[in-house]
Amino acid sequence: MKLHPREYSGLSTFLTHYLESDNAQNAHISPIYQNSVFTFDSTDEGAAIAAGEKPGYYYTRLNNPNHQQLADRLAALEAWDLMKQNQDAMPDELVGGLVFASGMAAVTAAILAAVRSGETVLTQAALYDGTYLFFKQLAPRYGIKVVWIDENTPAGWEAAFKKHPEAKLAYIETPVNPTLRLTDIKAVVRLAHQHGARVAVDNTFATPYCQRPLTMGADLVVHSTTKYLSGHGQVLGGALITTDLELLRGEIYQVYKILGATPSPIDTWMANIGLKTFELRMGRHCQNALRIAKRLEDHPGVSRVYYPGLTSHPDYDLARVQMLDYGGMVAFELKGGLEAGKHMMDQVRVATLAVSLGNVDTLVQHPASMTHRNTPREKRLAAGITDGLVRLSVGIEDSADLARDLLHAIPK
Ligand code: PLP
Repeated sequence: MKLHPREYSGLSTFLTHYLESDNAQNAHISPIYQNSVFTFDSTDEGAAIAAGEKPGYYYTRLNNPNHQQLADRLAALEAWDLMKQNQDAMPDELVGGLVFASGMAAVTAAILAAVRSGETVLTQAALYDGTYLFFKQLAPRYGIKVVWIDENTPAGWEAAFKKHPEAKLAYIETPVNPTLRLTDIKAVVRLAHQHGARVAVDNTFATPYCQRPLTMGADLVVHSTTKYLSGHGQVLGGALITTDLELLRGEIYQVYKILGATPSPIDTWMANIGLKTFELRMGRHCQNALRIAKRLEDHPGVSRVYYPGLTSHPDYDLARVQMLDYGGMVAFELKGGLEAGKHMMDQVRVATLAVSLGNVDTLVQHPASMTHRNTPREKRLAAGITDGLVRLSVGIEDSADLARDLLHAIPK
């Protein structure tokens, strides 16, 4: 019999069992429902499912068992603490979610569902490039006003809300890609809720293993499931999780249905398989990243290391309060600038030169010319993305192999 997620003590038990044999054939691992439509026993049944009066599947763009399984698991992961705190509630009374074809589809759906033409979004100046482009290029076309917060501190957000009390959404990304600077989630939630605005958090870098924004009062969490949640670099996907069930069943579902950025069943099936080892992988990612960050800090060729778990990180105190662990992403600047960075990236033999992140193997990339090439140079530099910044997605390999590979490739 299916257990309530709160009955599992640990993430791994939950992720390896929850909703797994919940299929008509009792298959041990959920089958892949690689079909576009679902059949009905009668016209009346079809009409009732279409009207949402009877549970059931209809058309894969609208829902599919693989999508529902992934959405339910991710919702429970993000609301893990809330479920423990609200013992009497069923999961779907507390939290819900939808899965998307990519992280960007989830990001844009969250924004389009929470703000309308003529309304204002407040957001931090440093963001993932795709999100930045949406705010810069597409949102204004549809009349959404975007206010950029250069001073990403509680005082900076307070001043912005004072100037724009009409804002409907505070959109944050923490730790931010690629400099790992943090935004104070609780402070933004307090200010936003005082002004009747919602808060959306991109939790891709931290994952619910390291940070649970819904526990801190955020309304919406978005993810690129392409990264740690699926974990093996073979899936493209996104997710939107929220405690605002009215918004989910209303505006969010409407945007989802109409824009049609639905994943393929095989992608959500693979993400579900990836999730089984999520807790184990994340523990190792975090452990390796801290080790590598410390070794890089001691390297004579490195001028600066960004990792929220290092005492030298400018947001270390905040990280200790709002994060449970510090994640697998590390960025660093080389004394030799871009040339030294290029040398290093061309020398490594264990790490792979590629964008994206959150794979079991280590990836290394150059944000200024790769992931953040669309961000104007002065905005990039203001966000700390210098030409010599290198970003590492630290994998789960043996840390000795990684350290040898990375440290030897850096010119002294
Ligand atoms: N958010 C963050 C923080 C990201 O790093 C990315 C991609 O790198 C995205 C969103 C977009 O995800 P996707 O590439 O799955 O659309």
